[in-house]
Order: sequence, then structure tokens, then C-alpha cells
Amino acid sequence: MDAAFVRAWVDELTRLVNEQSDELTRLDSAIGDGDHGVNLRRGFNAAAQRLSDGPAAGPAAVLTTVGTTLISKVGGAAGPLYGVAFREAGRALGDDVDVDGERLLAALHAALAGIHKLGGAAEGDKTIVDAFTPAVAAFEDELRDGGSLRSAAACAHAAAEDGMRATVDMQARKGRASYLGERSIGHQDPGATSTALLFAALARVSEQRPE
Ligand code: ADP
Ligand code: MG
Repeated sequence: MDAAFVRAWVDELTRLVNEQSDELTRLDSAIGDGDHGVNLRRGFNAAAQRLSDGPAAGPAAVLTTVGTTLISKVGGAAGPLYGVAFREAGRALGDDVDVDGERLLAALHAALAGIHKLGGAAEGDKTIVDAFTPAVAAFEDELRDGGSLRSAAACAHAAAEDGMRATVDMQARKGRASYLGERSIGHQDPGATSTALLFAALARVSEQRPE
């Protein structure tokens, strides 16, 4: 895994965010303020533009650029949370030019730690954390079982989607949706849904790359 792989991941995620923007906004209209799709679209399109305009960069620099752009371009809760996640992932990769499954795992752990530190959400609070946490755990389990980066990414994607669906029955305890109290139950969390897209993009680009 090199800078081209990370770029492909970001490009695929940007494509999915654009494609699913209306759906993310629909979900956020039910329990938030209806801007999640628009927020992420603005942020990822700006990041993709900045990457195309800038000089060729290593894997860490690609992730750091995405994180910094999301923080500067996206208001609301999710922009800074994803921004910190990408920046922490970039920091974890450091100067590595080739990134294997173990390095990617370390980056994903760092991203999740950043989300925890900034947002303070625990599992079950109906947030990004409810898709991200099981996805990282599944990625790690698959690597420990001798799986490849590709199979680990596929497992992470499946776990993120399970986590996303599990948010339907949860009551929100963080973010805007928490203002609704029990009325937040019965709706899928928008942030957990966009996190599933992040892992869908990772799984797809991992599939396309030679092992
Ligand atoms: P805002 O709520 O400010 O309008 P967005 O609509 O872009 O921001 O994002 C909403 C999503 O952010 C929620 O669906 C939830 O998943 C996520 N979120 C909100 N607060 C937190 C938090 N403290 N930790 C993790 N995720 C959070
Ligand atoms: Mg919102």
C-alpha cells in the first residue's frame, strides 16, 4: 500500500459521499439538522481538489491534507471529528512509504483514538464510534487470523455496516440527535452511515489492488 492506494481510497470515498449525499442528509433530517451529506460533500470535494492541485505526496501527507481540509471547510460535529481522524491516521503512518496491514491497523487505531478524544462518545451513544469501533476490531481480528489487508478491509466493511444498522435501536447520547432523547430511537445514525462508506471505500480499493 502506497500513496497511490491512499489516494484511490480518498477518491473512492469522495465518490461515495457525493453519491450518498442525499441519503446522508435524509438521515440527518430525521434526527439532526439535515446537513450531514452537504457537510461531507463540501469537505471531501475540497480535499480531493487540494490533492489534485498539490505536489505528489506520501501516504501520511495525503491523509493529513484530507484531515486539515475537513477541519477547515466543514462546520458541525462530523467535519472536525473526521478531520482529526484523518490527521491522526496520517501522523501514525509517519514517513512510511509502503503501508502494510499492520501499519494501516495502527493508523485506524489512531484515527479512532482521535475521535474518542475529541468527541468523548462511547459505544452505544449512536455516533460514528458505533461503526468505527467494530470495523477496527474486525480489521485487527482478521489480520491476527492471518488474513490479508484485502480480507481485513472486507471484514472491517461488513462490521461497519453491522454497527451502522445497530444504531437504529440506540438512543442518541452525543451530538444534536441527543436533544431528541427517546425520539432518536428508530432512526439510523448519519455519522455511523458515513463511517460505513469510509470502510466500503477501503474494501473496494483493496479488492482492486494486486496482493
Ligand atoms: P452536526 O450534528 O453538527 O450537524 P453533522 O450533521 O455533520 O454535524 O454530523 C452528525 C453526526 O456526527 C452524527 O450522526 C454523529 O454520528 C456524529 N457525532 C456527533 N457528535 C459526536 C461525538 N461526540 N462523537 C462521535 N460522533 C459524533
Ligand atoms: Mg447535521
